[in-house]
Amino acid sequence: MKDRILYIEDNDQNFYLVSFILSAKGYEVTRARDGREGVDRAAAIAPRLILLDIQLPVMDGYETARELRKNPALAEIPIVALTSYAMAGDREKALAAGCTGYIEKPINPKTFTDQIGAYLSPEQPGRSG
Ligand code: MN
Repeated sequence: MKDRILYIEDNDQNFYLVSFILSAKGYEVTRARDGREGVDRAAAIAPRLILLDIQLPVMDGYETARELRKNPALAEIPIVALTSYAMAGDREKALAAGCTGYIEKPINPKTFTDQIGAYLSPEQPGRSG
């Protein structure tokens, strides 16, 4: 079965690039365009991983991560924030909000799927079993 990834992203170009890369590797990518839609979609489809933009309409990425973590059914799902390279504070804020980790934008298409795969691996630190 394909691993389903929910990508919460308001920017079309970012979405199409990441979706293209992940789809080519066999992932099924579902989109939400703002934080509220992301929280609702996550509860509806229980994705294997959530990719989270930080600058989003309605709720920003930090608030979205906190909302996602309030749902016990979603507690085990890795949330990977896409943070701006220039904004060092984003990374700490993303982790404090409940994100599992982060990938800096702009993404590197050559290493991106390996970075995602690391969050899906059973050897990921903090995951049991
Ligand atoms: Mn954005």
